[in-house]
Amino acid sequence: MLSMFNFCPSCASKKIKFEEGKVFRCPDCGFVYYHNIAAATGCIISVPQTDGAQRLVFLVRGKEPAVGKLDLPGGFVDVGEGALVGLYRELQEEIGWTPPVPDGAPLASVFTLFASFSNVYEYKNIKYNTCDMYFSVTAPGLKPEDLRLEQAEVSAVRFLKPEEIDFSQFAFESTRRAVKAYLNILD
Ligand SMILES: [Zn+2]
Repeated sequence: MLSMFNFCPSCASKKIKFEEGKVFRCPDCGFVYYHNIAAATGCIISVPQTDGAQRLVFLVRGKEPAVGKLDLPGGFVDVGEGALVGLYRELQEEIGWTPPVPDGAPLASVFTLFASFSNVYEYKNIKYNTCDMYFSVTAPGLKPEDLRLEQAEVSAVRFLKPEEIDFSQFAFESTRRAVKAYLNILD
């Protein structure tokens, strides 16, 4: 993180400091930059089975960080978005799925927030501290062939029963904790 700015972006002083895990301050020109947390969402899509069991939809990451590891659909909330709108957009972009929302119904009536954890997302040597929010949604009848994967981001999709989930294969600790919380598995 300290290598993020070697010089003050405003006056090029080498005295720029990173403090409190989030703020860059330049003593020479007064430049201040808060590297605040980024908001991110993840979604558990639960597909009810005819026997009363459920399958959960997981992605296999197609790009770094953690390529090849298990993940949930979701991503960073964009500028100008709320968490639910960001999640709805990510589901469409990442897996080509438009969650059915009744006309006029709020997204909050479809997605249920069930957990939130902090996470650190490292990309090209920059660490982003995130606030990950996890939502669940039920998708009766959803099948793998209904999904259209974003090739650059997702290499495969897995519909897993809870007992088939390998918790050592998650890309991110916060996601692993969220899935365990959803399934009421003590961590
Ligand atoms: Zn400066």
